[in-house]
Amino acid sequence: AKLRVGLLFGGRSGEHEVSIVSGRAIARALAEESNAAQYETIPFYIDKEGCWHSPEVSRQVLDSGEALAVQGISAAALWQFPPETASIDVWFPILHGPNGEDGTIQGLLSLMRVPFVGSGVLGSAVGMDKLMMKTAFAEAGLAQVNYVGVTRSQIWSNPCVFPTLCDDIEAQLGNYPYFVKPANLGSSVGISKARSRAELETALDNAASYDRRIIVEAGVTAREVECAVLGNDRAQASVVGEISFNSDFYDYETKYTDGRANLAIPAELPAEVAERLREMAIRAFLAVDAAGLSRVDFFYVEATGEVLINEINTLPGFTALSMYPQLWAASGVSFPQLVDRLIRLALERHGEGL
Ligand code: ATP
Ligand code: MG
Ligand code: MG
Ligand code: MG
Repeated sequence: AKLRVGLLFGGRSGEHEVSIVSGRAIARALAEESNAAQYETIPFYIDKEGCWHSPEVSRQVLDSGEALAVQGISAAALWQFPPETASIDVWFPILHGPNGEDGTIQGLLSLMRVPFVGSGVLGSAVGMDKLMMKTAFAEAGLAQVNYVGVTRSQIWSNPCVFPTLCDDIEAQLGNYPYFVKPANLGSSVGISKARSRAELETALDNAASYDRRIIVEAGVTAREVECAVLGNDRAQASVVGEISFNSDFYDYETKYTDGRANLAIPAELPAEVAERLREMAIRAFLAVDAAGLSRVDFFYVEATGEVLINEINTLPGFTALSMYPQLWAASGVSFPQLVDRLIRLALERHGEGL
């Protein structure tokens, strides 16, 4: 009998639309001959409120590519899963951002005792939170920018200490610019570049509207390069890719407006630098206890040859045009093969008791 693959997409996050596009691409890959012979795809769309929809409705969302409109739901509805969920042999969650990439869904799937693609609870949670991620990277000896962690309450609830907080940040990070980010997001949502004290104040206030935890980083001027990792405990790294764009930084608009960003795969880099990046990508993957897949983002400072790790994404964008599958295609693993490999890795990990 064919293995029943539960494709989970959509999700209660700002990256809902991206997830629908990723879900469509994976459904298409699962329908390719070599995969269709082994796998039956059962899609489950999670709407923006967090409700799970039947495979029938989910197929309509996959076909149209359009998110379903939602208008409030009861707490009980969040615990009503379509009956087909009970028959799934392996889950393929392709949910980006909070409530999908952060360990929450992974906890639910672990409780179901069914194998699933990607990192477990720990790897997902550590990989999502930029402050915990950087703590793990530092422990693994990976070079990164200086940063300061701040909480929403420090920004909002005590006006008297706010100037002191900004003084402390400036004392620790030195010259502007800084990058101010919500700790648990993706797609550059809520991120601002601050060039002055006034901009820092606005940026902190803005980031605090997205997350309780905020990170402020020293800004670097560097090339942006990324590496894809595939595997479990013996994971492998892909060729390195580079992103270039004309905007001030790789913000949401640049990421999702056609023609604004350019991918070079493989990146034009000295062989030694590419090798160092690949080695660092695997170390980062192990440092957060990731599994299955991850995309690791770096800054390459050409003038000094320095490579700084920026972040890991444990459920990276997975559309046909996304960096992750393109890096593997350039490394000899086609999109349909990649999907097959990820399912096998999920089964392997589950077989090992996790
Ligand atoms: P993703 O969509 O890759 O998950 P994200 O929302 O997690 O993105 P980051 O990758 O941390 O956000 O940052 C987004 C972009 O902001 C980077 O690609 C880069 O262009 C810019 N950026 C972030 N941090 C810095 C920094 N410290 N110095 C210079 N540029 C930065
Ligand atoms: Mg990210
Ligand atoms: Mg992300
Ligand atoms: Mg990034």
